Amino acid sequence: MHHFSWWRLGWSLLLYGAILAVVGVVVGAPLLVLLAGALGLVCWHYWQLYLLVRWLWNGRQFTPPRGSGTWQFAFDGVYFLQRKNLKRRKELGKLLKRFREGTEALPDAVVVINEERDIVWCNKLATTMLGFRWPDDHGQRIDNLLRRPEFLAYIKKQQFQEPLIIPSPVLPMASVEIRVIPYTANETLMVARDVTRLQQLEQMRRDFVANVSHELRTPLTVLRGYLEMIGEDPRLEQGPWGKPHKMMTDQVGRMYSLVEQLLALSRLEARGEPESLKDVDVPALMRKLESDSGALNSDKQHQIHFDIAPLHMRGDSEQMMSAFANLVANAIHYTPAGGTIEVSWKKLADGRAKFAVSDTGDGIAPEHILRITERFYRVDKARSRNTGGSGLGLSIVKHVLSRHRSKLEITSRLGKGSTFSFVIPKELLVNDVLSASNQ
Ligand code: ADP
Repeated sequence: MHHFSWWRLGWSLLLYGAILAVVGVVVGAPLLVLLAGALGLVCWHYWQLYLLVRWLWNGRQFTPPRGSGTWQFAFDGVYFLQRKNLKRRKELGKLLKRFREGTEALPDAVVVINEERDIVWCNKLATTMLGFRWPDDHGQRIDNLLRRPEFLAYIKKQQFQEPLIIPSPVLPMASVEIRVIPYTANETLMVARDVTRLQQLEQMRRDFVANVSHELRTPLTVLRGYLEMIGEDPRLEQGPWGKPHKMMTDQVGRMYSLVEQLLALSRLEARGEPESLKDVDVPALMRKLESDSGALNSDKQHQIHFDIAPLHMRGDSEQMMSAFANLVANAIHYTPAGGTIEVSWKKLADGRAKFAVSDTGDGIAPEHILRITERFYRVDKARSRNTGGSGLGLSIVKHVLSRHRSKLEITSRLGKGSTFSFVIPKELLVNDVLSASNQ
């Protein structure tokens, strides 16, 4: 490593000048010799510059030619920089190689997309799972290659919290789950996973539940019919079989409603969003609910207030009724006698509509709130069993709402009461329908 020194440079110049002066004096023409010396120096500098430029632009060798004098510093400096760059490039290359090897080793297809949705890079699995060709598809728009409408809508919507499941464009009968992860300001990672097996298992589970429920319904109907027939006999009440008969009737009734709920859930799971969205006369449903809840409320004598706006929505009437009824029935069941229940359906300032049921009941602890929409989840199993609950009601509500682009919101304070509500989006509301029957 050379160190450039002004001193050395100054001394060499001075020495050069002195030699020239001596030679000039000896020859007897000091000025001429000085001029010739200066010209020689300029020419020498140009020659060194020429050597450097020639090597920089045309040189095949990695090492620079040997410069002399002060130029040696410049030549060595350039060489040093070049070596540093080369080292860094090698390190970057290694890093890139490691990253690629890492992504190749992943069991998922990985595609890097830029802001314009062009493919920047993809791994080998992306070629087998999604049918991309690499490197031919480099720079192709991803939405030109994956043309399924669900995928196009997903990419356009730009909401990637939930993954998307689509059939694989190349593998027959296979499903892939797509996740999109924006990872720099203008690059996005798309990861696709083969979920065929999971989907098959999920389908088997659904089919199993649906089939078992269906098969159980017939024997239960027979049992229920005979129990009803037997119950018509006036002698039963006084005889020893009065109490067992009542218990059998109750339990068969519970089993029947459980099977009905399981079947309702299976139907909801099998269907996506209702294909044809029909007019749902919410105020009419509420009037029916009001009269039906009378029977449920006969023991507890709650005060139930309905505050219903004359607002219709679009969806599946039967499904919406089951959601409304489940929430109101829960409020009645889980509120100690003499409570107050408020049921409301109104338009919000932003054009959406909100349905809410508030009660002054037991309330639910926060750790349960997250889980009560799971199937068969009950806060207090014994209590819920007494009310005839199966733990499926809120599951049904959740499914119905997701099919109506809505979500169940629960706020609750232990011992004070709970509010179950959901908001129906603007596009599912029928504008300004004044239900004639509601006036
Ligand atoms: P169930 O058929 O047991 O009522 P749900 O799915 O409807 O099943 O409700 C699940 C659990 O959530 C219930 O067991 C109950 O503990 C709790 N829950 C539901 N609604 C209310 C409410 N309004 N107040 C307090 N707890 C409730």
